[in-house]
Amino acid sequence: MSKGEKRRPETLLAHLGRNPSAHFGTVNTPVYHASTLIRENVEAYEEAGRNRWVKGKSSYGRSGTPTTFAFEETVAALEGAYGAIALSSGLQAIAVALMAFAKAGSHVLVPDSIYYPGRKICEELLRESGVETTFYDPRIGGGIAALIRDNTAMVYLESPGSLTFEVQDVPAIAAAARAAGVVTAIDNTWATPLFFRPLDHGIDIVLHAATKYMVGHSDAMLGVIATREEHYERLRRTSQHMGCAAAPDDLYLGLRGLRTLAVRLERHQENALRLAAWLKQRPEVDRILYPALPDSPDHEIWKRDYKGASGLFAMVLKPCARSSAVAMIDEMEYFGIGASWGGYESLMLLTDPRPIRTATAWTDPGPVVRIHAGLEHSDDLIADLEAGLDRLNAAEDTLAARAG
Ligand SMILES: *Cc1c(COP(=O)(O)O)cnc(C)c1O
Repeated sequence: MSKGEKRRPETLLAHLGRNPSAHFGTVNTPVYHASTLIRENVEAYEEAGRNRWVKGKSSYGRSGTPTTFAFEETVAALEGAYGAIALSSGLQAIAVALMAFAKAGSHVLVPDSIYYPGRKICEELLRESGVETTFYDPRIGGGIAALIRDNTAMVYLESPGSLTFEVQDVPAIAAAARAAGVVTAIDNTWATPLFFRPLDHGIDIVLHAATKYMVGHSDAMLGVIATREEHYERLRRTSQHMGCAAAPDDLYLGLRGLRTLAVRLERHQENALRLAAWLKQRPEVDRILYPALPDSPDHEIWKRDYKGASGLFAMVLKPCARSSAVAMIDEMEYFGIGASWGGYESLMLLTDPRPIRTATAWTDPGPVVRIHAGLEHSDDLIADLEAGLDRLNAAEDTLAARAG
């Protein structure tokens, strides 16, 4: 991949992970459906078994096929990593990254803004396995050094944080962990490798919910971990011990999605910026959680480290009844109500960061509404938002009239 590394990401997206001459001339790497892989002879079978942790090698359907390796090789090149490991979901990528390093009696550092099901891995699976988690303020920066203990096995990051969008000072945290000899892993789902390459900033391991922007069409579950060479075998062994295997059709959809990632992200960003700026000047909105806006508290760090902002952000409404926010969300024409994001369509979700944080308090009194800006025309999305805010105001007026 060293030649590919020098090419620009848009070009890599069009050319990585495919080899028509090896596949009957087909432009795309085909879907290999496989469990058993037949070998020439006993020696070849045993050789495959010995090499099953080696990058690009497989002994069985579970340890990969050319479809798996095409996806892995593409993500690794985009992240500037030695290798990548495909998994069946983003959550599985979080679990494998943590479980590969956290052993009984050890300790992990995890940001308070971690994707919530990832928090539950720490609070349940890791705790029951004898691993202690300290949740830290995502804006801690180099201050993380004071929380690192002799038994700290990993500093985990997610930037920006789920629901609340704090951008972490990744280089400062990575440097402090490295100085203490502690491995770092980051969830880079929001930015994708096109907008942020954590390994260039000192991080050891990057993981993604490929389900989101990589797949890009809301139709497959897929995860991936990309890593420096020194951690590759441990991560691959862990994923294989846990029986992880990404499904062939989903790998194909992941690779297919990557082909258009650059053009999709450009439009997601353009739409999100326009919606965020429009919402910000509305009287119903208290503040916008989106680091690309110049007055965001994390704007400077974001501008220093990131090449762009994707389509997911949140607005904090001025204090209002939850039912008024629901009146807005329930009747949106183009914004679907649902988990996940990163597809071509817009989404809106009522969230509540307050009960799930333990290291930092979320004190904004108003409801938090997460928005995914899809690829629709932004004029139509804004008209939809305007009608939604009218419904919110009408609901508030009705409550006031009743109370008054
Ligand atoms: C959705 C998400 C995940 C989990 O990915 P799945 O593929 O849904 O399991 C992990 N991290 C972040 C930031 C996410 O948004």
